[in-house]
Amino acid sequence: MTEKDIPKVDFAIIGGSGTWAGEFPEATGFKGVRVLQKDMEYETPFGTTQPMKWLELSADLTPDRKPRQLLTVPFHGYHGLTPYDNPSEQIFWVFQKAGVKTVIAEGSGGGINPLLDPGDIVIPHDFIDFTKRPMNIRFFTKNIVRAVNPTCSYLRSLFYEKAQAEYRRVFPRGVYAVAEAPRFETASEIRFFADAHCDICGQTMVPEAYLARAIGACYASAYLVSNYAEGVEDPNWKGSSIFDRYRDSADRIGRVTLGVIAAFDRSRQNCRCGEYIIEIPDTVNNRISG
Ligand SMILES: [Zn+2]
Repeated sequence: MTEKDIPKVDFAIIGGSGTWAGEFPEATGFKGVRVLQKDMEYETPFGTTQPMKWLELSADLTPDRKPRQLLTVPFHGYHGLTPYDNPSEQIFWVFQKAGVKTVIAEGSGGGINPLLDPGDIVIPHDFIDFTKRPMNIRFFTKNIVRAVNPTCSYLRSLFYEKAQAEYRRVFPRGVYAVAEAPRFETASEIRFFADAHCDICGQTMVPEAYLARAIGACYASAYLVSNYAEGVEDPNWKGSSIFDRYRDSADRIGRVTLGVIAAFDRSRQNCRCGEYIIEIPDTVNNRISG
């Protein structure tokens, strides 16, 4: 499929390991979601996307009483276990053409903060990017992308509200250490992340967070703590499979993401995300590009 086949939608959900174990949205049991189209693979300048789905939430769920449409892609758009071939750039190219203004994502991560347990949910307010990936921001915007407050305060408040209905412990803030895929971290790396005041580590929050800002969209994400990070002491944990956590969580975190999109109320949106992108005057742009 090509650019002309991209529907105009305001919203997108990036699926992650939280919904790895179940077909999204079919397996969530969420009432009022309809699949309009699936298997939508788009040709982009970065390669072909994973198959996306085009969903609609029924009018009785939304604050404006209008049906709400969104695009979704599983497992961050990856074509395997690693972000080979710029999958985030592929899906954000589609989101930008679709006119998406709200992007949410879910995933899982290792708990660095010793107060976290597997099964908890963390909604990060910030990240530190420890990856060595190239930042393809310039492809999406000529403006300067600030990374202050990278997640939307309004979306985080919706995530907090919806996640509390499904999970026992939900943390509405935390710093996410973005590590390089695909291997997990050494215990020394985790100690280093802890010294840098990181609470949870994973491999996906970047580049999603800053590409969302580059296309002018609000972004927030929520992560299931799937395991203790390496070296974080836990005398009771016997190294049970993180896949057990995924199986236990896929329908619940899927309902959380759909609930956030359904509840989104533009008249109550009080975030400042739009202020964190700085327009470069044409006179300066012309000198830079000339
Ligand atoms: Zn925002």
